[in-house]
Amino acid sequence: MTITDKDQIIRLLAETPAEDVYRMADEVRHNNVGDEVHLRGLIEFSNVCRNDCLYCGLRRSNLAVKRYRMSEDEVIAIARRAADIGFMTIVLQSGEDLYYTRERMCKIIKEIKRLNVAVTLSIGERTADDYRAFRDAGADRYLMRIETTDRDLYHRLDPGMSWQKRYDCLMTIKDLGYELGSGIMVGLPGQTTESIADDLLFLSHIGIDMAGIGPFIPHPATPLANEAGGTLELALRTMAVMRLMMPDINIPATTAMESLHPEGRIMALQAGANVVMPNVNDADYSRLYELYPGKQAAHRSPAIGRSSIVAKIEAIGRTIGTGQGGHKKKA
Ligand code: SF4
Repeated sequence: MTITDKDQIIRLLAETPAEDVYRMADEVRHNNVGDEVHLRGLIEFSNVCRNDCLYCGLRRSNLAVKRYRMSEDEVIAIARRAADIGFMTIVLQSGEDLYYTRERMCKIIKEIKRLNVAVTLSIGERTADDYRAFRDAGADRYLMRIETTDRDLYHRLDPGMSWQKRYDCLMTIKDLGYELGSGIMVGLPGQTTESIADDLLFLSHIGIDMAGIGPFIPHPATPLANEAGGTLELALRTMAVMRLMMPDINIPATTAMESLHPEGRIMALQAGANVVMPNVNDADYSRLYELYPGKQAAHRSPAIGRSSIVAKIEAIGRTIGTGQGGHKKKA
């Protein structure tokens, strides 16, 4: 039985013992998407961003960040290396950096598609023509978090941005036939349980293919440095309830969960998640992509990082996905 009742969602988020919610989500995950864990190779190719989100270490007002941009050839070379070690999906992520014009992005996408992998973009708000061109170049999926459906909260936290514009971008992406990924942040200052329930209902309503839950972790170089932040339990619970509501979507065990607990991603895989996105950047770049403090960087080579997460996944009785791991919708 899929959950759609808001009061029930609120009870699951705030009252039902957490272990019970995790157990139910794990069972629903097993029954609907099986025991495979899909690995996506994440390339964070630029930490330049035109936006100023109050919670983010990469916000343009943070002058302490050493900014970097990879060349097209560098991105393609990292993708090739990731494909060589077995990644079947490459996720291209950056701040909102318009240096990567439509032409530059299309060149990168086309070259990576020659590696016979799925390409996911996570580069923020662009024009409809850009989204169409990226899709025509071969991009398969697009990730863009809505962050919160509380518009006042969104506009407070993302100055200069428009919730409606973000929503319109999501709808354009969906209409173009991408697999659509979105998600929210939990533990934001001023966010309520009811608001999180609304967010989950929103994600369910727009028919997403993937969704991630990120705990808000205050970054010391942002205006929210002294806020409390979200807990691992809130993030895991929200993710687990999302699994109960959307049984067949892809749900990543997010890196932010690992920043709150060394085994955070494994805990997430046992509470409804079925995707992990290891960073395949070189360590020097990884350290500079600090959305929040303590972000788990790729301190080792991507091959060693991959073997390490594979061993942990297999140790909990799960298997590694063999295909590209797209959303398999159940009727
Ligand atoms: S959250 Fe994304 S859009 Fe906002 S400042 Fe950070 S990188 Fe830029």
